[in-house]
Amino acid sequence: MDKLSYASESPNTAWSTYLQQIDRVAPYLGELSRWVDTLRHPKRALIVDIPLQMDDGSIRHFEGFRVQHNLSRGPGKGGVRYHPNVDLNEVMALSAWMTIKCAAVNLPYGGAKGGIRVDPFKLSEGELERLTRRYTSEIGLVIGPQKDIPAPDVGTNAKVMAWMMDTYSMNQGTTITGVVTGKPVHLGGSLGREKATGRGVFVTGREVARRLNIETDGARLAVQGFGNVGSEAARLFVAAGARVVAVQDHSATLYNAEGIDLTALTDWQATHKNIAGFSGAQTIDAEAFWQLPMDILIPAALEGQITRERAEKLSCKLILEGANGPTYPDADDMLASRGITVVPDVICNAGGVTVSYFEWVQDMASFFWSESEINERMDKIMSEAMIHIWDKAREKECSLRTAAYIVACERILMARKDRGIYPG
Ligand code: GLU
Repeated sequence: MDKLSYASESPNTAWSTYLQQIDRVAPYLGELSRWVDTLRHPKRALIVDIPLQMDDGSIRHFEGFRVQHNLSRGPGKGGVRYHPNVDLNEVMALSAWMTIKCAAVNLPYGGAKGGIRVDPFKLSEGELERLTRRYTSEIGLVIGPQKDIPAPDVGTNAKVMAWMMDTYSMNQGTTITGVVTGKPVHLGGSLGREKATGRGVFVTGREVARRLNIETDGARLAVQGFGNVGSEAARLFVAAGARVVAVQDHSATLYNAEGIDLTALTDWQATHKNIAGFSGAQTIDAEAFWQLPMDILIPAALEGQITRERAEKLSCKLILEGANGPTYPDADDMLASRGITVVPDVICNAGGVTVSYFEWVQDMASFFWSESEINERMDKIMSEAMIHIWDKAREKECSLRTAAYIVACERILMARKDRGIYPG
């Protein structure tokens, strides 16, 4: 294989996790494996400098990225992350996971991702807006409704998408709502988009739990990350009879064997911006989270959380990857040997991009659907994709992750093969 000069060889990076996942699927791809190296090479990576005048008059420079990993099946699709740890390696991995994810649910998209290395909580609203607008202008060359369509991710939201849409539109001289998804509903956003990722975690988790004879009624749930994804997935599981025994975020780890009152925790978080200090549960040591008695674990924060050591301690039967890339490959092996089933990120959290696709379709048609229509269509796409992957895993006697990669890589590499190499 021809190696990339700009990708770190370190085994613990997100990109190397992704490469190992590709190594694992390659033996299943038959004749298509001739094309598999294409997945180890991002198509296009743009690094931009974002100079920003701070409110105090000083000037700072931030690093921004947009990586289009693969465009064989359609325009690039994927979020924009604002986080202090963002770097090229992470954005490459996140863009590659989008390629796999879009193909796993059969959306007509390739994979892309963007990000800025910044702590958005340390900026004023004005600084955040100027940062977003300059970033959008800088990546304006490569994005567009038929080229690459950004969306929210960790640290960004509908408001950031509105600024992105406006900046792109100003530069083009006309309003182009379909350039980003996850926008506010009154600006061409879609109903149901905000809750879609958490909803998809629930829908796919329920399908797999049924097949493993795990009762959701009475199940003990532990959730890492209480943002958009973790809180909505937890809420739906509670509505199905589960109880949330543990919640962890960057500020605290909460435990209550009787079940945490989610409405009270959500209210607490709305005022305090994190879960620290919530009195409806005991605060425990962060590392103790991984040894708590639980049936279902939902990692819904960042990548690289489930290490081999933590996988060895976990007592759950099922892991639902709300986050992208939370599990290291050696931890995957440990979990498999311990009989713990993982519903992988590339299907588990695909509800978000599925409703992003609906949003893009609605923007193109300038015709908008009701929330129940959106939820119905999403539930159908997500559960059918999950069942297809479940069946593939049974047929090939492999993990759900490898099965999802088989389904996705076959679709991507068929497109790659039939399009051929230009110039021939
Ligand atoms: N950032 C989300 C993800 O990782 C959504 C991407 C999108 O909607 O394009 O799947």
